Amino acid sequence: MEAKIQAAPSCVDLFDSESISLDEALQRIAARVLPVSDLQKLPLRDCLGRINAADVVSPLNIPPKNNSAMDGFAVALDTIKPEGLTELKVTGTAFAGIPCDTRPQPGECIRIMTGAILPDGVDTVIMQEQVNVLDDNTIQVDADHRPGENIRRAGEDISEGQVILEADIKISPADLGVIASLGIGELSVYRKPVVAFFSTGDELVSIGEALEDGKIYDSNRYSLFGLLSRLPVDILDLGVIRDNPDDIRDALGKAAEQADLILTTGGVSVGEADYIKDVLEELGDTEFWKIAIKPGRPLTLGSIGNSHFLGLPGNPVAVMVTFSQFVVPAIQRLSGALMQPPRLFDATSKDSLRKKPGRTEFQRGIAEQDGQGNWTVSKTGKQGSGILTSMSRANCFIVLPPEQANVEPGDTVHIQFFDWFITQF
Ligand code: AMP
Ligand code: MG
Repeated sequence: MEAKIQAAPSCVDLFDSESISLDEALQRIAARVLPVSDLQKLPLRDCLGRINAADVVSPLNIPPKNNSAMDGFAVALDTIKPEGLTELKVTGTAFAGIPCDTRPQPGECIRIMTGAILPDGVDTVIMQEQVNVLDDNTIQVDADHRPGENIRRAGEDISEGQVILEADIKISPADLGVIASLGIGELSVYRKPVVAFFSTGDELVSIGEALEDGKIYDSNRYSLFGLLSRLPVDILDLGVIRDNPDDIRDALGKAAEQADLILTTGGVSVGEADYIKDVLEELGDTEFWKIAIKPGRPLTLGSIGNSHFLGLPGNPVAVMVTFSQFVVPAIQRLSGALMQPPRLFDATSKDSLRKKPGRTEFQRGIAEQDGQGNWTVSKTGKQGSGILTSMSRANCFIVLPPEQANVEPGDTVHIQFFDWFITQF
């Protein structure tokens, strides 16, 4: 009989009874990570991009009063003849910000400017382009008008008492404008979570250091810095930590004093120098997961003191995949925002893609819209989890679900844009 080596569980297994699905991992993150509890009142401009902490109720109607949407003439429509032309005397002018007190009688109208409050006794504004001006004080109008035309109704945009900005949303430029239109000068927002991170590995050197044999430059801290910079968090870069338990314990202790979330890269697989696991087990409450995704299978979630901990794999592409799938949702939750699954779009694959059933794969793609507005996607070449240029050339993940096998050109696949969390926070 042929002798065979029974492989120990590792990153190359396709089916693994211990691995959990992507959705299961997200549910576990949601169960453990809660929003930071401290709130801040900030001047309106400083609230841009922050997470609103309380429903804002409008104290006003917007617009506050019925007003004109056009430059024209304000009339009571039932004083206009149902057929032919009606001559009207202009007995007053209403400007934006300067109301007109004159109440027109039958046969009269008021000159009105855009944004001016509608005077009493009128119900319709006829555009100036639709009247005959006979002299300075006399116009003619025809019968072709609807009651209420060219009027903005009080409260048609916002009504008093309405919730105008919900808690847990990220505050946008338009939100600033809406809140300003209500005369509100500050909002209550969640404190920004502090996210600390460090890289682990004896092989890693930082920029500026000599690259001796067997060493590589640390790239993960730069991709992480880039990703975190686009989120509403404060960032703490703790550098490179060597693969030894004492240094790792020190670094984790320091990080836990300052951060709401600690991210590490590397050292969580089954290598001989992968100590993160041991140290975390010693520090307490930690879960080690194998997630049925590729790349990025091993992931560690835990807490140290009041900080949450997410241990990412070391491979540079796996770092970016797990960040996008797990760290972003964790940060959404921590920052008080709603956890939103990344949006997927259908695209036609231009290439054949190799895929074995079993795990969710995140291949790197270049998505483009064709002339009809449909998305197509091509791959970026080699898909190894260490090939970081496959990310920098791409703009999206091609997300292939567990049951999916090889993809042929022309097949429809799902894509997820790298920057999904900027629009979906
Ligand atoms: P590990 O999970 O520590 O075994 O690392 C897996 C692979 O990723 C190894 O080839 C490491 O050299 C590489 N790697 C780990 N950390 C980094 C880093 N910060 N920058 C670049 N490559 C890394
Ligand atoms: Mg390592």
